[in-house]
Amino acid sequence: MKYDVIVIGAGSAGSIVATRLSEDPNRSVLLLEAGPDYPNFDHLPDEVKHGYATATDVMTSDHNWQFTGYGTAENPEIMVPRGKVTGGSSAINGQMFLRGVPEDYDGWAARGNDEWTFQNLLGCFRRLETDTDFSDDFHGNDGPIIARRFKREEWRPAQTAFYNAARAYGFPHTDDHNSPDSTGVGPTPFNNPNGIRWSTALGYLDPARNRLNLTLRPNCTVHRVIFDGNRATGVMVESGGEVFTVEADQIILSGGAIASPQLLMLSGVGPGDHLRSHGIPVVHDLPGVGQNLRDHPIVPVTWRTKPGFDLDGFAPRIQTCLKYTAEGSDLRNDMIMIFSSFATEQVIRGGDRMAPLGIRASVSIYLAVGAGELRLNSTDPHQQPYLDYNYLQEEFDRKRLRDGVRIAVQLGEHGDFQDIIQERTEPLDSDLESDDALDHWLRSNVSTAQHISCTCKMGPASDPMAVVDQYGKVYGLENIRVVDASIMPDCIRANTNVTTMMIGERVSEFILRGD
Ligand SMILES: Cc1cc2nc3c(=O)[nH]c(=O)nc-3n(C[C@H](O)[C@H](O)[C@H](O)COP(=O)(O)OP(=O)(O)OC[C@H]3O[C@@H](n4cnc5c(N)ncnc54)[C@H](O)[C@@H]3O)c2cc1C
Repeated sequence: MKYDVIVIGAGSAGSIVATRLSEDPNRSVLLLEAGPDYPNFDHLPDEVKHGYATATDVMTSDHNWQFTGYGTAENPEIMVPRGKVTGGSSAINGQMFLRGVPEDYDGWAARGNDEWTFQNLLGCFRRLETDTDFSDDFHGNDGPIIARRFKREEWRPAQTAFYNAARAYGFPHTDDHNSPDSTGVGPTPFNNPNGIRWSTALGYLDPARNRLNLTLRPNCTVHRVIFDGNRATGVMVESGGEVFTVEADQIILSGGAIASPQLLMLSGVGPGDHLRSHGIPVVHDLPGVGQNLRDHPIVPVTWRTKPGFDLDGFAPRIQTCLKYTAEGSDLRNDMIMIFSSFATEQVIRGGDRMAPLGIRASVSIYLAVGAGELRLNSTDPHQQPYLDYNYLQEEFDRKRLRDGVRIAVQLGEHGDFQDIIQERTEPLDSDLESDDALDHWLRSNVSTAQHISCTCKMGPASDPMAVVDQYGKVYGLENIRVVDASIMPDCIRANTNVTTMMIGERVSEFILRGD
C-alpha cells in the first residue's frame, strides 16, 4: 500500500497537517497515532474531554506517555507527561491559549528563517482560532480552536486577590494576553469552551473524519523511517503486535519534541558517534538532532489557606496570569506567574491531586537561556529517550527565577490575601535568606512547565546544528519533514500549544504551495 503522505503522530501539529493536506481529495494521507482514538465525542474519556480535574487522572492515565526527565542534580527525576491519544498533548494539556510575543517569531526570522516573521505568521494564528472575546486585526473568529477568557465575575476569590496584589505592586492590567503589545496581569485565554478541552482532535480531525482520502490509524506505533539511500520511502509500524511496512512519497514526523528526534535517531539520522555507540547504521550524520532541548523552568510558591476557606478541586484552578519583564532583562515578557486557586502537595512528592492544601503562584522563566539535550537510552522504540533538561546552569536564569520567587512572596503579603492565607509552605523563610539558599531551593524544586521544544531546530544551511530548513525539510535527506514543537529554533514566550498549531498551519501552507 502506498500513500502520498504519511503523517506520524496525531497531536497538536500532526492533526492539523493531516487535515489541511487531505483537503485536496486527490492526495491520500495516512495518519498514524500510537495512542487510541475516540471518534464519538460521547465516548471521550473524562480526563481527555474535560478541562479541569475529573474523577480519572490524566497524569496516571494510559492517555499519557508518563515519561520522566532529569532536571538538576538536586532534582534528578521530574515527571514529563505527553499525550498518547488523538489530539496528542493538546488532548491532555492545561489549555492556556497563548501566543508568543512578535519578537519571538521575528527572532526566528532573523536567524535565517525569513518565512517566519510575526507578520508572515499572523494569518496562521488567526486561521486556527475562534476567539470569542475579541474581533480585530489580530484575532481570528472562525477557526477550529475555540478560545475564551473567564469574566471577572467568574474569578475565584483568590484569583481576584492575586490580580489586586499584582496591580498594587505596579503591574499593568491587560484584557488580552494575546494582543501583541500586552504585558501585565489579566484573564488567561483558554481553549476550553464550556469546560471542554478543545483539542486538535475535536477542532480539526473530527470535521475531517469523513474524507475518503484521509486514513487515521490509532494504536499504531512507528518504529522507524525507511530510507533508500537518502530518500525516505516509508515507515515500519507496529499494529496489533505485528510490524508492517507502509510506503509514501512524503513522510512527515509530527511525534512531538521527544518522539520526532527519537525516531530520526532510530532511523539512522542524528549525531553519528551517538548512533554508532548504539549500533545504529548512520543514514545521515546530523549533529543537531536531540540537541537544543528548550523548556520553561517553573517553581511553585505555595501558601496554606485558612481553615474554612473554600477550596474546590473540581472548579477551574487557573483563571489569571501575570506576564512581566524581569529586572535588567531586555527580553520583553520573559517571565510568567500562573496563579492557581487550588493547590495540593506536589504529586511527585506523593501529594494527592485532589487533597486541598492552599493556593499557588507558579513562577516560570518564559525565555530561558539554558538548554538541555535528548539522547537515546536504547534502540527499542518502546523505551523513552533520556531527557536532560539541564536547568538553571546560567546565572541569568537563576537570577530571574530568584527575583520572580521574591515578587510572588511579596504578592502573597498583599492585604487582599489576609483572610485567605494562613502561612507560606514553600519556599520557607530560611530558603529566602540568601541568594545561595534560594538557588539551592530553586535547583531542588525546579520542574517542567510541559513545554519541551526545539530538539530538531530549523535554521539555514549555514547552521551546522539546524536539523530542518525553514520549510521543515530534514537536511541531507529527501521526502521527509518534521512538523511539530521540535522545529522551533528557540522557545517562545508563551505556552507552546498555540505556536505548535501555528507551525502545523504554516508548514501545510508551504506544502500546498509547493515549497
Ligand atoms: C500536561 C501538559 C500540560 C500542558 N499545558 C499546556 C497549556 O496549558 N497551554 C499550552 O499552550 N501548552 C501546554 N502544553 C504543551 C502543548 O500541549 C505541547 O507543546 C503541544 O501539544 C505539542 O504538540 P506536538 O504536535 O509537538 O506534540 P504532541 O501534541 O505531543 O503530539 C505527538 C503525537 O505523536 C504521537 N506519537 C509519539 N510517538 C509516536 C510513534 N512512535 N508512533 C506513532 N505516534 C507517535 C503521540 O502519541 C502524540 O499523539 C502542555 C503539555 C502537557 C503534556
